Amino acid sequence: MQKPWQILANKDPQVYKLIESELKRQQEGLELIASENFASTEVIASMGNVLANKYAEGLPGKRYYGGCEVVDEMESLAIERLTSLFGAKYANVQPHSGAQANAAVFLVLAKPGDRILGLDLAHGGHLTHGSKVNFSGLIYESHFYQLQAGSDLIDMDEVRAKAKEVRPRIIVAGASAYPRTIDFAEFRKIADEVGAYLVVDMAHIAGLVAAKLHPSPVPYAHVVTTTTHKTLRGPRGGVIMWNDDALTKEINKGVFPGTQGGPLEHIIAAKAVCFQEALQPSFREYQLNVVRNATALAEGLLERGFKLVSGGTDNHLVLINLSDTPVSGKQLEEALGKIAITANKNTVPGEKRSPFVTSGVRLGTPAVTTRGLRQPEMDQIARWTRLAFEHVGDDQQLSVLRREVEALARKFPLYPAWTD
Ligand SMILES: *Cc1c(COP(=O)(O)O)cnc(C)c1O
Repeated sequence: MQKPWQILANKDPQVYKLIESELKRQQEGLELIASENFASTEVIASMGNVLANKYAEGLPGKRYYGGCEVVDEMESLAIERLTSLFGAKYANVQPHSGAQANAAVFLVLAKPGDRILGLDLAHGGHLTHGSKVNFSGLIYESHFYQLQAGSDLIDMDEVRAKAKEVRPRIIVAGASAYPRTIDFAEFRKIADEVGAYLVVDMAHIAGLVAAKLHPSPVPYAHVVTTTTHKTLRGPRGGVIMWNDDALTKEINKGVFPGTQGGPLEHIIAAKAVCFQEALQPSFREYQLNVVRNATALAEGLLERGFKLVSGGTDNHLVLINLSDTPVSGKQLEEALGKIAITANKNTVPGEKRSPFVTSGVRLGTPAVTTRGLRQPEMDQIARWTRLAFEHVGDDQQLSVLRREVEALARKFPLYPAWTD
């Protein structure tokens, strides 16, 4: 199958070579970054199309430009597929990213200076949930709940207490580094008790929710936001869903003109392809394997003496807790990088090291599961992680391990159709 970028080989060899180098990088190592995935050849190919030429500010049937009859159909199709995938009544598929989806929603649900309440970044929250360096913490007065000491679980009693104390306009549920199930029904009860909107940002777990392997926030949240490129395995982008028609006008205004200009209709085409894939029975099978693999990885790491935040996982990720070891998250991330395993350092509850060093490493299974790895390989990865930990700084040992990792990667071809 011809690569979508093949046309560049002669026309723009510089760009062509860089795309080829990135394909090679993805093929040679193992991708354990929990927020990444490998979209299908169909999703990748459908991102590059002539819909990119079209200005379509507004919504299907209500545009500011002529010539929108085709993109209207495309965007309506994406909305239809998305709402049927998650059982939501309404959706906006235009947000360029997860951060943009949150910006659009916050803009219309809260006024500058209003209080918002989200999960502490150091405990697994996201920058857009109130961080001081993000619009969400600069424009709003942000407050945070934390994980319970000892169990590392979201403590709903603390969420309730904080909500009663802070009286926020918006409560945000959702995380970027939380390995356990989130109780959206209880979040909604708390939101109702204090008269707040509940916004659920399910960016990380959207694929699991689509496959019914994590309880859906859609029946409980006033608004649900998500990315489309993490467990959902689509193009890089965001979407917003809600059930109450009273919010429709405002939320759509939050996207355009509130925070964005023209939508990326070519990416919306790829989103539609992704939603159709996620509606297939094979997608549920994939997500089952994502969760099984994460469970196997957690077991393999525990057996080898690692401590994990919350002691394990219910979803697609595990968080190694290195607090009482001499090795930092940064050091382990670097050692893993040297053996061709890509992961990221992460803060852990009760973090004592700086956010640039950290005491955690986050490992996720969505990408390696797409590639076909299963439980035996998860045990291998746990073993390599232990060896990388023991040989931090020993580049010679690490290069021996790198050859083992690369040999395994070769057994699970990635994008074989695009490999010369
Ligand atoms: C990844 C993530 C986002 C941001 O997504 P981008 O597409 O990178 O802007 C927002 N919220 C959560 C919880 C995330 O994990």
